Amino acid sequence: MSYEHELQVLNPATEEVVATVPATTAGDVDAAVARAATAQTGWAALAPGDRARLLRRFAATVDQHIEELARLEVRQAGHTVGNARWEAGNVRDLLDYAAGGVERLTGRQIPVAGGLDVTFHEPLGVVGVIAPWNFPMPIAAWGTAPALAAGNAVLLKPAETTPLTALRLAELALEAGLPEGLFQVLPGHGPVAGSALVEHPDVAKIVFTGSTAVGKQVLAKGSALLKRVTLELGGKSPNIVFADADIEAAAAATPMSFLDNSGQDCCARTRILVQRSVYDRFLGLLAPAIESVLVGDPADESTQMGPLISRTQLDRVRSYVDSSAPGIRGKAPEGPGFWFPPTVLTAVEPHARVAVEEVFGPVAVVLPFEDEADAVRLANDTPYGLSGSLWTRDVGRALRVSRAVRAGNLSVNSHSSVRYWTPFGGFKQSGIGRELGPDALTAFTETKNVFLSTEA
Ligand code: NAD
Repeated sequence: MSYEHELQVLNPATEEVVATVPATTAGDVDAAVARAATAQTGWAALAPGDRARLLRRFAATVDQHIEELARLEVRQAGHTVGNARWEAGNVRDLLDYAAGGVERLTGRQIPVAGGLDVTFHEPLGVVGVIAPWNFPMPIAAWGTAPALAAGNAVLLKPAETTPLTALRLAELALEAGLPEGLFQVLPGHGPVAGSALVEHPDVAKIVFTGSTAVGKQVLAKGSALLKRVTLELGGKSPNIVFADADIEAAAAATPMSFLDNSGQDCCARTRILVQRSVYDRFLGLLAPAIESVLVGDPADESTQMGPLISRTQLDRVRSYVDSSAPGIRGKAPEGPGFWFPPTVLTAVEPHARVAVEEVFGPVAVVLPFEDEADAVRLANDTPYGLSGSLWTRDVGRALRVSRAVRAGNLSVNSHSSVRYWTPFGGFKQSGIGRELGPDALTAFTETKNVFLSTEA
């Protein structure tokens, strides 16, 4: 198969061309890996305090460009400007947090007779980060910041549709004083540039975030080289509303739990499970909340939801929703742009395609359940296990259900999933490995054990 030599970046709200970017070839990847390997040697040899200082300077440089980065994300990805500012700020915070770990990446001293036994966290070398289009900045930084802090070089392959903020971050890294070659961005096609990274023998680890289908290919190819691979994949997360919950609060929080980023969120709570005794009351509260979500120009400060990323994604989302299916529907602009209205489908069978597959658009289903056991059964009736929420006033139930749902990130009486200082990742087909949190740096190291004899 042949691929275009350039990537065309479209504004998803207008369909206008924002930029064209040369696509990285497999040969370019080879050259980038060689440059990265050279830069990494010097970077790993720096005193920890100096490495930390440079990362803090990178964070400060990002902080000075939050508005510029946010506006660029609005143009290339259609994110609402409020979200895009948060996302650029998240990159700054990830860099700051990782910088704080450099001097704390301590090994252990383990009692062994006849000498001293110590462990070291050695950097892996060159790390490849393959990012999706839905959160181009934060997801790029989840892998990049801890990998750099642990002494590695990073090659970042952004998604085809969203290379611009990643490219700008690489410029800011140089401006902040990071060495040439240490953090390079390789915009390009997944099966070309992404694949070349995965298959390169000198790339020690791949951090992949994207679809489960591609993630499985990455794991298979990486494992042939015994490469370290972490996968952050899809989700079909439940939002479980028990009859004893604050139903008003649960209904008010539901729209943005699956409409944020136009539903293009791996943690979107797209299966709304409601106890049958409060089902009608909950839907009565949910309908006006969905209908009043402001969908429109993402650059407008009051907009809550923008367009989908591309025509391909719009067609995919449309394929899941029968226009005559019963449900609640919000409003969306007409005309150019990849718009789809907020949609909640009622009267859906639990095993219908829309109730089982990740739509990655502003579409959720509501399913009734009878009791706690039924709620847990329904919540776990999916190959995915990324996140989920439950609403209840019963503390015992909150803990029982949180432990029983097979997912990596649960949230009680709220819909939070991602904080840079708490661990994040999936059970089952939602992924392998964890990112973020206190252990983020060690995931980019190999533990080395050294024994020094005192007998000689
Ligand atoms: P995708 O799998 O199509 O692409 C992701 C990245 O992989 C892109 O950079 C792409 O170019 C690259 N790629 C494609 N084919 C490749 C190949 N053969 N070898 C190497 N790289 C290749 O996914 P997408 O459509 O960009 O993103 C949406 C998906 O990402 C959704 O399924 C979503 O759930 C998932 N996601 C997961 C998380 C998480 O943390 N679990 C976060 C965000 C998105």
